Amino acid sequence: MKHREKKTQISIKWKMFAILVMFVALIALALWFFQIQMLNYFYQMAKFKELDDISNNVIATLDSPELLKEKVAEYGEHNYMDIWVFSFDERNNELITMAMVNGSADPFMPYLTKKMPMFYEKAIENGGSYIAMISKDHYNNRLELRVFKDNMGDKNSHPIVSGAVGNTNAISVSIYESNGVQYVIVQKSDFTPMRSIINTLQNQFTISGIFLILLALIFASVMYKVITNPIIKMNEAAKKLARGEYDTDFSGNGYREISELADTLNYASSELSQNDRLQKDLISNISHDLRTPLTMIKGYSEMMRDIPGENNPENVQVIIDETERLTELVNDMLDLSKIQAGARLPEFREFCITDSVRDTLKRYEKLIMQEGYNIEFIANEDVRVMADSVMILQVVYNLINNAVNYTGEDKRVWVRQSVSEGVVRISVTDTGEGISKEDITKIWDRYYKVDKVHKRATVGTGLGLSIVKGILETHNAVYGVESTLGHGSTFWFELNVFDPSTYE
Ligand code: ADP
Repeated sequence: MKHREKKTQISIKWKMFAILVMFVALIALALWFFQIQMLNYFYQMAKFKELDDISNNVIATLDSPELLKEKVAEYGEHNYMDIWVFSFDERNNELITMAMVNGSADPFMPYLTKKMPMFYEKAIENGGSYIAMISKDHYNNRLELRVFKDNMGDKNSHPIVSGAVGNTNAISVSIYESNGVQYVIVQKSDFTPMRSIINTLQNQFTISGIFLILLALIFASVMYKVITNPIIKMNEAAKKLARGEYDTDFSGNGYREISELADTLNYASSELSQNDRLQKDLISNISHDLRTPLTMIKGYSEMMRDIPGENNPENVQVIIDETERLTELVNDMLDLSKIQAGARLPEFREFCITDSVRDTLKRYEKLIMQEGYNIEFIANEDVRVMADSVMILQVVYNLINNAVNYTGEDKRVWVRQSVSEGVVRISVTDTGEGISKEDITKIWDRYYKVDKVHKRATVGTGLGLSIVKGILETHNAVYGVESTLGHGSTFWFELNVFDPSTYE
């Protein structure tokens, strides 16, 4: 037996592991990107939006000093922000406080208040708005403002803040003009530096990454067991089957695919075992079938050689008949093997099937005359078909032969031809014992014989119906059998009536 060359194939376990690790890595990458890489950006966006919203809300209350104070206090406390609202006195070039809140409870607020003219200048320089990140010098316990980054351009450009250390705050300044008066809104909000959070998250990510990869390994092993155990078992069973143990049972517990495979293999093993049984039967049948005529031939020949008076035409006829029987047997086997190997393909020609059946029946004249058989052919018209005439005749012949062999004591057989809707049906009916339900599907199999004990030496080879089946299937013809136990059987097949227009 030839074994397939074993390639260096990766086990399914490692494949699954690789897929799982890839999956974990992709998820981690996506999380890392959004959670860590983009964290700063998202945070800053949210912060700037908050500042924008509040300054817009404050602007909406500028007309009413009372409401302004109330709202500023509310926004400041609610958002833990320090907020200043000034109007600019052009004549004295100074900022006049309209409202102020120390929502962050920052002790440095008075210091920052002093810096307001500077922020105002920056905002003017910057076209009306300004955002800066500030941090305070805690080490020297001194109030020292370090503006380490600001947007000396467009406020909406939202520069990404980097390098922030310590307690960082965002200062946002917006100048708003109404009725020739300039209002200045300044907000100071906590701006937590993300670096330490990011560091923490990164560490967490590394640890959870390692954990997830370990988990993937465990999962892969579990999945490997679940998936491959039934396959391994099945492989063992298949090896047994290959050794000829046809009673091997493939039990496919586990999952659908494997139980489907188990069903298929069980089916294959039952077919194989049936084939095996049939082959064994065949050998015993054929040897029996061959031995009977050979014994007869030998016996008659010896008799004719040794006993002078026995060398007569009747005895020679026995030898000829037995030789014919042997020829028939060998021909059947050859025919079937050719049809099954696909070596004998039908040659489609137009012919009159009614005439052909009539001709075939002529072969039975002797049988009718000598043995009292009554074979009746019932046909209303002559029908032409497009088929392989030799093959179809073989079918008719095999069916009539079986009917003659198996018909009842009355020795009657009917061959009927009926035509309907462009289809001709040939059926052969006998009055024999019929075929049981269990046997009716098997009789078409090679070498299958219902009755293993030969009733008659002339009874066939067990190949007749498989030849019929083979031929009709190569013709794509419909065929079948109806049988009632004790009443007889009708074997039939159908062919399309020849229609010249389809071949024009
Ligand atoms: P055989 O050469 O043994 O007749 P076939 O393949 O022609 O082989 O038929 C297979 C089996 O089917 C037969 O052995 C017989 O048991 C059964 N069979 C076939 N034709 C008939 C029939 N007309 N009536 C009853 N049984 C039949």
